[in-house]
Amino acid sequence: MAVRQLPDHLINLIAAGEVVERPASVIKELVENAIDAGARQIDIITAKGGKELMRVEDDGIGMGPAELALAICRHTTSKLPDDDLVRIESLGFRGEALASIGSVARLRIASRPIGSDEAYEITVEGGEASEPRPVALNQGTHVEVRDLFYATPARLKFLKSDRSESMAVTEVVKRLAMSHPGIGFTLSGPDRSRTVYAAQHDSEGVINRLSQIMGRGFGENSVPVLAGREGLKLTGFVGLPTLTKANSLSQFFFVNGRPVRDKVLLGGVRGAYADFLHRDRYPMLALFLEVDASEVDVNVHPAKSEVRFRDAGLVRGMIVGTLKQVLAEAGFRASNTVGEATLAAFQPEQAAGDYQPRFGQGYSTPFQPGEFARPLDMPVPPTGFGEPQNSYEAAAVDQGFAPSGRVEPTSITPFEAEASEDFPLGAARAQVHENYIIAQTQDGLIIVDQHAAHERIVYERFKAHLAQGDVPAQGHLIPVIVELPEEDCARLEDGADALNKLGLELDRFGPGAVAVHKTPALLGNVDAHKLVRDIADELAEWETLSTLEERLHAVASTMACHGSIRSGRRMQAVEMNQLLRDMEATPNSGQCNHGRPTYVELKLPDIERLFGRR
Ligand code: ADP
Ligand code: MG
Repeated sequence: MAVRQLPDHLINLIAAGEVVERPASVIKELVENAIDAGARQIDIITAKGGKELMRVEDDGIGMGPAELALAICRHTTSKLPDDDLVRIESLGFRGEALASIGSVARLRIASRPIGSDEAYEITVEGGEASEPRPVALNQGTHVEVRDLFYATPARLKFLKSDRSESMAVTEVVKRLAMSHPGIGFTLSGPDRSRTVYAAQHDSEGVINRLSQIMGRGFGENSVPVLAGREGLKLTGFVGLPTLTKANSLSQFFFVNGRPVRDKVLLGGVRGAYADFLHRDRYPMLALFLEVDASEVDVNVHPAKSEVRFRDAGLVRGMIVGTLKQVLAEAGFRASNTVGEATLAAFQPEQAAGDYQPRFGQGYSTPFQPGEFARPLDMPVPPTGFGEPQNSYEAAAVDQGFAPSGRVEPTSITPFEAEASEDFPLGAARAQVHENYIIAQTQDGLIIVDQHAAHERIVYERFKAHLAQGDVPAQGHLIPVIVELPEEDCARLEDGADALNKLGLELDRFGPGAVAVHKTPALLGNVDAHKLVRDIADELAEWETLSTLEERLHAVASTMACHGSIRSGRRMQAVEMNQLLRDMEATPNSGQCNHGRPTYVELKLPDIERLFGRR
């Protein structure tokens, strides 16, 4: 067979295979074109999930008749004026979207360019374009796509149900709307309910738009990010560590305004939150990275959802560093969704409204704007590290490992207030079920999980000492011999140097045993057997962590659990108040090392509502 040049319509069909996968990809291309055209308002209509009809109307710069005729050809674009693929500042640049769409669907474009009072339209069917003809239209462009894949039944079969296609369109519009709050969007049609994203014009615009899309809970329980260095700028909002999901679908990334899924960015976030979250929880966030156009390659894939950074290490480092700092500044704040969930659980059933507790997900139930929403706005106290100057730690350890599930008649231990309610976490009033401290604040009450809270405090002390390279150790006169499976002994032996940095000194004691000479002083009189066995388990997972710091923190987190006040231990008033004060002074104390909250707060009006007083 002879080699031959393929006819144009075939080339377009082949290209369309990459660019136009489903209705959502058409919507993406058309809305990106509207954004590139400087539109202030973009209206999107779909029918049957976009299979039957898609229409995108904008009020952008428009096109004259000659441009219209060119725009639908392949490799025609107005967006690479200097032939420079290295600096791409627009969303489009490949010049193949309209040509591809025209080859697989019935396409009609009407447009009136800025400054002209004539509008023209052009139609394309089966790759054949009509001559431009006059039409009535205000400034801007209307693009209509009907009967997607009508000429290629094989592709049609791959499309999902109208409902799934319609949802995929919604997702695409959501993402583009998130990164362009200044533009108004509507999304409507017979296959959906109407969504309106009003154009935002003030400084709150970004968070308003994000809250509308990600839920009001995100607006109230996230902190702003703003950082810049070496040609990189990072902005956006990240959720507090207590506002998490079981998958990464609520993590949105944008590079130069372009929605992307990217391993470098996902990895950076993971690193930043490693300290706060269990590995299977994902914080909600929306991050916008602006990179000098020459530092990032957006031309990796026709759908343009992947990017390649010239210096991936720099980008990752910036994300980890910035987010860690922002989260540390957020201090001990726990998200108010925790209080929400609590309240909802208290609600008598008929009053529970829309809230559906999902017990499997614990506190992180997807937040729906509820009527109890209220920002915590607590003053963030100065962060600092108090040494364990108080009796509660030593006492905790003396008590050994009291069983946590002990069943006893409800025991309330009331006592006179010793501390003032002026403190953010108030004055301890009682301990219930030997695990929860009830404190009264000026305008509400706080319930603290004593074990979780103390564990976080011990962990933060570890980190502070680790940073200074002086984790205090406590020697044992007679070494404690711990017997373990051989592979655990080997791991402990390998990790001995690192463990030394954490105040744990051990060495091999013949086959199947290690000798423990020193344990971290922060843990008090710890049970060395249990401690070492747990650490051996932790070491087995070390390979999944990349840096020594991450590894040390993971071990410190395991250690902290051993040195913490157990649930099931009775506490004195002074101890409880001291714990509250320590929490206020400890960074990140709003959640335990596994991302669970350490306290919940109920405001007086919320309590009054529970009793129908409001
Ligand atoms: P690209 O966006 O990669 O340039 P397209 O095939 O999507 O390629 O569009 C081709 C050209 O048509 C664009 O470069 C632009 O000049 C013009 N165009 C497309 N859509 C619009 C629109 N909504 N408003 C104004 N011009 C448009
Ligand atoms: Mg385009």
